[in-house]
Amino acid sequence: MEPLEQLTKEDLAPIKMIVFDVDGVLVPRGTKIHQEGNTTTLETKVIAEKQIEQIRELNKKGFLINISSGRGLYMLQEMFRAILPFVSLTYESGSATWYQGKLYQHINSFEKNKDIFPKLKAVHDERIKGFEPKEFIITIHCTEKVQKIEDIVNADPNLCTVWNGEAYDILIKNDQTKALGLRHVRDIFNLQKENVMAIGDNYNDHELLEESGLPISADKSRVEGRFYVPLEGEFLPADVLMQKVLSLKD
Ligand SMILES: [Mg+2]
Repeated sequence: MEPLEQLTKEDLAPIKMIVFDVDGVLVPRGTKIHQEGNTTTLETKVIAEKQIEQIRELNKKGFLINISSGRGLYMLQEMFRAILPFVSLTYESGSATWYQGKLYQHINSFEKNKDIFPKLKAVHDERIKGFEPKEFIITIHCTEKVQKIEDIVNADPNLCTVWNGEAYDILIKNDQTKALGLRHVRDIFNLQKENVMAIGDNYNDHELLEESGLPISADKSRVEGRFYVPLEGEFLPADVLMQKVLSLKD
């Protein structure tokens, strides 16, 4: 992996779309969730106006923008409200994409995860903070790893857990990844792998980065890229990347 400063105009020449992970890339990591009985409190993070402006500039320079997150659609729409006319949203780890009011579903996880949900709900452990509202995946926020959750999921050959440091995503093994979303998004926009640059910071970005022609790691201790940017610096990883791309593009 090379530091992003090494990125050149030639590297950028084939790029038509930039894919951004959200948490740890466009906003700092960390989700505030609290669940008590039937009441769930979930904080919506705000994308800074500076990043919204940078995305606008990239779009003006001709880049397509795709957001690829483990979050639910309702949350991403709220975060990207100001630029929804030209941004596509791939949500719940590649499960579906929203673009200009149209929905594209990439996987049907219902049959495979419907029976595990009540089993997970029945686990009582004070380290479990809450279930984040989702449609196609199950996300359980915990203060630390909970072996019981892993045991329940691992007993099902169709499912797997991905721990990201603050939550488990429970996914259809091999199929339900951000790479699935990116392959469909490439079809929607008629793009090849080499036309896509993607940036992500966490274990669930591994497949996304492998599926893009120009992968950028925002945490080289967790994911591999061709280039990397520091997770914690003066600027957010997406800010650093956008500054660099805008400086190279006439
Ligand atoms: Mg992330």
